[in-house]
Amino acid sequence: MPFHKTRAMMGAAILLAFGATQIAAAPAASPKAHPQGAAAVDSVRQLAADKEPGTWMSSGRTYSEQRYSPLTGINKANVKTLGLAWYGDIDTERGQESTPVVVDGVLYITSAWSMVKAYDAATGRKLWEYDPKVDRATGQIACCDVVNRGVGAWKGKIYLGALDGRLIALDGKTGKVAWSVQTTDPKQPYTITQVPRIVKGMVIIGNAGAEYTCRGYVSAYDATTGKMKWRFYTVPAAPGDPTNTPLLDKAAKTWTGDFWKYGGGATAWDTILYDPKTDLVYFGTGNGLSWSQEIRSPGGGDNLFVSSVIAVHASTGKYAWHFQEVPGDEWDYDVTNPLMTADLKIKGVMRHVLMQAPKTGFYYVWDARTGKLISAEKFAPANWASKIDLKTGRPVENPAVRYTDVKAAIVQPAPLGAHNWHPMSYSPRTGLVYIPVTESSTGFASAKPNGFKINERMYNTGTVSGSDEITKLYALPGAPGRGNIRSYLEAYNPVTQKEAWRVPDAVYGASGTMVTASDIVFRGNWSGEFVAYDARTGAKLWSAPTGANVVAAPSTYTIGKDQYVAILVGARGLPPNVVRTSPVSANNSRILVFKLGATGTLPATPFQTAGSAPRTLNPPLFTGTNEQVIDGQAAYGRFCAGCHGAGGVADKSIPDLRLSPVLNSLNDWNDIVIGGARRFNGMVSFKATLAEGQSEAIFHYIISQANKDKATAEAAAKK
Ligand code: CA
Repeated sequence: MPFHKTRAMMGAAILLAFGATQIAAAPAASPKAHPQGAAAVDSVRQLAADKEPGTWMSSGRTYSEQRYSPLTGINKANVKTLGLAWYGDIDTERGQESTPVVVDGVLYITSAWSMVKAYDAATGRKLWEYDPKVDRATGQIACCDVVNRGVGAWKGKIYLGALDGRLIALDGKTGKVAWSVQTTDPKQPYTITQVPRIVKGMVIIGNAGAEYTCRGYVSAYDATTGKMKWRFYTVPAAPGDPTNTPLLDKAAKTWTGDFWKYGGGATAWDTILYDPKTDLVYFGTGNGLSWSQEIRSPGGGDNLFVSSVIAVHASTGKYAWHFQEVPGDEWDYDVTNPLMTADLKIKGVMRHVLMQAPKTGFYYVWDARTGKLISAEKFAPANWASKIDLKTGRPVENPAVRYTDVKAAIVQPAPLGAHNWHPMSYSPRTGLVYIPVTESSTGFASAKPNGFKINERMYNTGTVSGSDEITKLYALPGAPGRGNIRSYLEAYNPVTQKEAWRVPDAVYGASGTMVTASDIVFRGNWSGEFVAYDARTGAKLWSAPTGANVVAAPSTYTIGKDQYVAILVGARGLPPNVVRTSPVSANNSRILVFKLGATGTLPATPFQTAGSAPRTLNPPLFTGTNEQVIDGQAAYGRFCAGCHGAGGVADKSIPDLRLSPVLNSLNDWNDIVIGGARRFNGMVSFKATLAEGQSEAIFHYIISQANKDKATAEAAAKK
């Protein structure tokens, strides 16, 4: 999974039981149903997607997943008149990552907690919604938020990968379940957040959980019946395991030690791409467990197939080729980032290529059929390798970035990556790829190998990220900036491997992109805007307020003569100076749909929950001990901070514990933390996770923090 800030799910989304609301800016005629009925996508139609430019029938629009729209109704001359046509409030919080899929006048999205909603794409009238009722305890094993990246549509059905490992087929007209299969062992900590891809009548799906002891695999299911057709494991299991193919037996030779007891990892948690020209299915794999190679594979080795792109034959799932981008990865360099195919003229010859801008900062272009590397250059700053050897395909690693329990390293990019799951787009007109880039760095040292213990409900990286040695390394001349440095939209030429232009973000954060044939790039940001840029220059052409942070990518479609642009908004927290206006989500999660000449607006009145906690700190007196504060601070940092915020200071969609009335009663506190009294809100029991006394220690630490912060606030007020 992408390394976001959220990890342990001590308190997840507050779910409100209201329905979503929509407004229509102007009454619009409902589109005529497609003669084939709802979600009527098939191979013929998907392969000929360019003949229906007004339809966005799969998450990446075409099998190439270029996220390029041939539509030109919205162009540079008229884009300034783009306005809000309709919006829908989304009744889940946290990250909203799906790209709207639009087929025959119906717009389908998924939201956090794997919920699906279908709207009339012209008016915003909600047609149906589906909630798979994922057990909120699953949130604890979703490394990076309880997100979902969207649906697949096929022959009247809508397909959903649910967080708990189910693959669910819904009736496209009604949202009723047609079939559902469990694709994972529910006793193991697997999750699914990715888009199911539909290929030759099969639904292809992977999973996540490499940091929780999961072994990666990708499976294909019959789209009509849900019967499994093939499965490809990405790493070997214990010697003699019946799932070990001869290929995996060979791969096992690139590992040392009893690596299988940690599961192996290499989960294919995001990109899956089908190429009709090669008839191959491609997917990227993530890290091994632990991140620290000293623990995972003490004698080193490439550890196949972690951090690799794998190509398999679509009909059988049989191996075709692989390309390991990060041999022996130990920096969480998942290469699960979006893959796309394209036809590029390279050195005068048309080449059918596969390409990717992974976490590592190197932009890869391969021959799509053979996997032979054509080029790989840096699209963002990276200190872990100086270059990629084009003959061997291997990185020329910087020896300083390998770490052990006695040697720290600082590494750029950090696990968040130079580019993560956020969709990029490619325009065959401009020849440019539009990449949301984030620059970051982090410090690593290995945990002590003999002290490393797995906790299947927690994040297990086997690393230490803060130490005096790391601080010293950051102080050295030439060291990269610490943490999140900057983010920007980058236009990159994959033929020349050179940046064309970039637009810096005012607020750090990544957000997906889409490009149209009128040379406009659409993208949201973390300043609370949805923006149209000139695809050739990066000039800002238009923007509209989103009232929310944006991570998802937009899509575009037509109803009648009108072209619409749709974007799902809502991520961690709120943009600067934006207040909650949604009655159903604290982070203003919404689907926003724009068209030319529309004049709709988002609500401006701040929404207040009745009886919500006062924002003034009023904690009880501190009665704990210094030892408890020290223990509590360490435990909070490991188990709670991911959701509740560093130092006890939460963002705006998760309760700020310093303000909690529960601080007045240790019994009430333990009922929640140990007893699981709020598990249905996503705050699972930490009974199995916390050691004796740790819940109390965290309780006293929070009270101590709240008293300190209160004193600071009062002192400031007196000045
Ligand atoms: Ca990972």
